[in-house]
Amino acid sequence: MLFPSRTRFIGIAAGYLLVCLGVSAEHNHTTPAKTACHTLSTLLGTDKVQSAGGAQYEASATGAWDLYNQLDIFAMRTIFHSDAHYAVRGGGHSAMPGWNTIDNGVLIDFSQMKAFSYDPMCNSIFIEPGVLFGEVYDGLQSQGVAPVGGRVDAIGFSGLALGGGLSFLSPSQGWACDRFRSLDVVLTDGRLVTATGTNEYSDLFTALKGGGSRFGIVTRYEVDAIHVGTAADKTYWGGSIDYVGPSSAAVVKATEALVYSNKDPNAVIISSGSYSNISGTFTTTSSVTLFYNGTEAQFKQVFADFLAIPAVATNLGPLSYNQMTKVLASSHSPQNVYGGSALYPDQSLFEKFYNNWLNFSTSFKDEVFATFWDITPVFQSQIDISRAHGGTSFTPPNGPFAYLLIGELLPLGVTKIGKLLRAGIDGLYRQWVSITPGPLFHSTSIPRSPGLPLYLNESEDVQNVLTTYSGYEQLKETYRKYDPTRFNVRRMIEPQFDFKRSKLLKDGMAGGLILSSNSAS
Ligand SMILES: Cc1cc2nc3c(=O)[nH]c(=O)nc-3n(C[C@H](O)[C@H](O)[C@H](O)COP(=O)(O)OP(=O)(O)OC[C@H]3O[C@@H](n4cnc5c(N)ncnc54)[C@H](O)[C@@H]3O)c2cc1C
Repeated sequence: MLFPSRTRFIGIAAGYLLVCLGVSAEHNHTTPAKTACHTLSTLLGTDKVQSAGGAQYEASATGAWDLYNQLDIFAMRTIFHSDAHYAVRGGGHSAMPGWNTIDNGVLIDFSQMKAFSYDPMCNSIFIEPGVLFGEVYDGLQSQGVAPVGGRVDAIGFSGLALGGGLSFLSPSQGWACDRFRSLDVVLTDGRLVTATGTNEYSDLFTALKGGGSRFGIVTRYEVDAIHVGTAADKTYWGGSIDYVGPSSAAVVKATEALVYSNKDPNAVIISSGSYSNISGTFTTTSSVTLFYNGTEAQFKQVFADFLAIPAVATNLGPLSYNQMTKVLASSHSPQNVYGGSALYPDQSLFEKFYNNWLNFSTSFKDEVFATFWDITPVFQSQIDISRAHGGTSFTPPNGPFAYLLIGELLPLGVTKIGKLLRAGIDGLYRQWVSITPGPLFHSTSIPRSPGLPLYLNESEDVQNVLTTYSGYEQLKETYRKYDPTRFNVRRMIEPQFDFKRSKLLKDGMAGGLILSSNSAS
């Protein structure tokens, strides 16, 4: 999987697939997607432009990680010059409906563009847009380097890095996008440009550090190589601890205390929990995945609070970096709904969040298969490193905080969020208190901490994430410059620049529940 030069790399970049999803020959009328697909297949051939029946069609049509997205699968098409709708897929792991698949449009599928290489002369890693983290971690392990990247190895490099990118390396190395060196970007008008932090496209470069896919399609990444060691270098100590029942509240409390007090960039943790139906009984469980780049004694000192909480399983030991990235597993998922929040720590804010989530979970237990949460601390060291690398489009203010992911797993076969559940989820994003049992909410309690950005990769489309960014105004200006006809806004379902209530949110309101328009999301 090596490519020696950029020229060759760009040659390979022609290796993407165009998938004409939902373009049906049965209909007599012409659609933009039909026109696009016909023209493209005449020009490029049916191997590259796949329609129903093509060898790669089925794999692309069903390749989204979140099955929620597969609902759109048999209805897609597009491409730019025909004014058709389109979508782009890197690793295919976004849970946002329509972000990596499209109804009645063309899918640009990078699943066959998986080359990567390490150049020790410039200490850069070059990555094509279809690469999954496990592929690049495994492939470069013998050279002892890795990009700053996902905590689960099945995730795609593209989506994770363009949305920011939280990594086990983040406390010491920043967000994944902080380590971009140069990006090859295809703009909506078809131009291929190379953006860096210092060239004429530096505004585009900054926008792509967290702004997602709005600004163009990235066909090649050059990123810093981080020297994480080979398989023989077991320089980390840690693993996972599992808890059940009331221990989960203690885990949340200990996480908040760590966010507040930790100043050591060698420590990294993600805390998670769920409320799910296990053998007929709803149970709260939680776990922490935690590592220290150092000794066991140092690990035990930093994470003493977590080690003191009664646990049901503990799996800790010395690990190489590559082993760390295999601790959190991922499986193909049924319908997920992800939402996000961001909070500064104080004495008990995270605990209040947890209690609200638990109230929500018990109130809606008949409508979901499970609910879950993750807390990812962002220590000051991460913010400092990000600033030292030129910052991002979402650069947060100084001060440690945490991203909170709130998720629901819908029961198998349920493809639409019910009105009341929708209203409950919206209430949860705003951190309203749920009065159990039943979908009643009042609008005080704990909204997202003022000034903190939401995390694009852990939020729902109704949350209007880009507007929470410190660089939002600049982001809009950059977008206008690089996509003057607003093609992407018109023809892609992706992060929005201005508040736009989703159909689902409207449905929730139509249910007769009064929701505050003072959005905290
Ligand atoms: C199990 C699981 C674990 C996760 N763990 C982490 C984690 O540790 N850290 C973290 O930060 N996030 C994590 N995430 C969130 C993850 O970062 C996002 O889901 C991300 O969008 C996935 O990227 P992808 O390339 O796989 O997805 P895709 O669905 O292919 O793409 C996501 C978005 O990026 C766009 N895109 C893809 N390729 C390109 C391109 N070449 N040019 C322009 N736009 C492009 C797509 O259009 C889409 O909008 C996790 C998600 C899951 C499901």
